[in-house]
Amino acid sequence: MKTIRGVYEISVPLIGNMANAVVNFSTHDVSLVAIVSSVIRGGKPVTGFGFNSIGRFAQPGILRRRMIPRILAASPEALLAEDGMFDPVAISAVAMRDEKPGGHGDRAGALGALELAVWDLNAKIADVPAWSWIASVTSAEVNESECNSPEVPTYAAGGYYYEDDSLGRLQQELQRYQALGFDAFKIKIGGADLKADMQRIDAAIDVAGSGIRVAVDANGRFEVDTALAYLEAMSDRQLRWYEEPCDPLDFDLLQQLSSVTNIPLATGENLFSAQDTRNLLRYGGLQPGRDVFQMDAGLSYGLTEYLKILELLKTAGFSRSQCFPHGGHLINLHIAAGLGLGGCEAYPGVFNPFGGFSPACAYSDGKVKPSEAPGFGLEEKPELQPWLEKLREMI
Ligand SMILES: [Mg+2]
Repeated sequence: MKTIRGVYEISVPLIGNMANAVVNFSTHDVSLVAIVSSVIRGGKPVTGFGFNSIGRFAQPGILRRRMIPRILAASPEALLAEDGMFDPVAISAVAMRDEKPGGHGDRAGALGALELAVWDLNAKIADVPAWSWIASVTSAEVNESECNSPEVPTYAAGGYYYEDDSLGRLQQELQRYQALGFDAFKIKIGGADLKADMQRIDAAIDVAGSGIRVAVDANGRFEVDTALAYLEAMSDRQLRWYEEPCDPLDFDLLQQLSSVTNIPLATGENLFSAQDTRNLLRYGGLQPGRDVFQMDAGLSYGLTEYLKILELLKTAGFSRSQCFPHGGHLINLHIAAGLGLGGCEAYPGVFNPFGGFSPACAYSDGKVKPSEAPGFGLEEKPELQPWLEKLREMI
């Protein structure tokens, strides 16, 4: 019988000296989790790695004081599925024992890191890439299409504010992404006034070739009047989408925008549960065939919860092609590939060591293909290797 020999966490600083309209990332860190199994390959235990995406903080306290001890105290059989593999649903339930419902805050990211390490571990035991493992084990329950292509449409997220020569540097940044093979982009808005932001949008469209290749992200900054003023100013630019115009939990304001917008709306990266999604669908006024969902498994209790989110979207008439998880990194690349989502974002060269993909991934025509490495392929990302090594030293 397979067993879990140990679970370890380290908090890894995010290298991000940039800011959006709301947040400076220079103090952010991320929990990197290792689950060590009893399965031995090449003389070493097969080990699954996961992390809680980007944009929140590491959760050593919740992981080390609550969740990891619960898993290590559980009986080994309670953590296995019927097929003998580690069961992410059962492991999540054990990790969440004695936690009350609601309050989906940092706890959702802590479990996200842990639960995703289970998926990495299972894929490595099966000796297949994580996208392939995810596609095979979820097909019976949730796959609505045969869309399991490992090629994922992606776009380069960036477009930050620069102090000097802001427009020129913005254009240079997007040109760098173009040279890497990206043909669609997302830029920040809301960190300057409307007039300056419209100049930024037009500068980005100049590089991209059309508005449909440029999305804008306000990071939840606007009140109703500003959100509507931006909508009106942008309405003839045919933009790809207008992301988080207002507070992520102000569903009434979102509904107001939704009723008048001619630009697709995007939201969800700051919703951390299926219940939050249910409320968004009830009250946010989002439309099938138009709007975009960006919930991120690493921030939302992991893939087990994300599959519940996809079920809710399906029941409400939305397609997986409307899902573009937040957090451009290898884990979400594999999730998007395995579940046939619309795509995922990418942070080329930003938010290291987690942001961006690995040199082993192939970029072309705006698409990224995961490598054939077992699991999420985190070991192939040079910036992550020293941190994975540090975790291994703890084992
Ligand atoms: Mg965003």
